[in-house]
Parts: sequence; structure tokens; C-alpha cells
Amino acid sequence: MRVSLNCELCKKQSEPCLDKKTKKIHCGNCDKVQPDNHYLKYQLETLQLWRSGDKKPFWNIKCDCGSIETPKISKDEKNVLCSGCGQAYKLSVPFKIMMIEQLKKIK
Ligand SMILES: [Zn+2]
Ligand SMILES: [Zn+2]
Repeated sequence: MRVSLNCELCKKQSEPCLDKKTKKIHCGNCDKVQPDNHYLKYQLETLQLWRSGDKKPFWNIKCDCGSIETPKISKDEKNVLCSGCGQAYKLSVPFKIMMIEQLKKIK
């Protein structure tokens, strides 16, 4: 399931995210605060699409299977997996480590 938002500020369609502390909706692209929308907020909360701590919006990875998803961590926490097909991404080691750190934060 995917939530999308037409951001009026950057004029792009993006995946919004919710700030855990302020409960405000942010554009996944430009990170600007969006007008309040109870339905959207509810969806974001249900899907646990939280805003990551740093300013950069969380990125999605494109997999060979064609799905562009926020990845997930493997059980042994050594690999980053596609949420679509469950395959491990072929990533460089430093990027993978960073990714795992980020994913742990938003879990
Ligand atoms: Zn935007
Ligand atoms: Zn995949």
C-alpha cells in the first residue's frame, strides 16, 4: 500500500511522512510541512511512515524486480532487503551499513 501526496510547495508527487514528535505531515521530497489532513495522518500512522530524524527525507531503492520501496533489514541485520521481493540489494558496504543504521532508527 502506498500513500502519495501532491505537494503544493515543490509541485511534485511524493510519499509523505509523519513527524513523530510534532504530528505534522511532511513532504517526502522537500520535507516541508503540509497542511493538516486527518485522513492522511491516520494513514501515515497506521503504516508507520515516520519522518526520519535528519533533514534528508528517507529514500527508496529501486530493485531489479521493479518495485521502488523503502527497504527492510534482514533478520541477521547484515543485509538490506527489498520489501517487494525479499531479495538483498547489491549495495556497497558503507552504504549498506548506513542504510541499516537508518532503518533501525525508523523501525
Ligand atoms: Zn514537497
Ligand atoms: Zn525486489
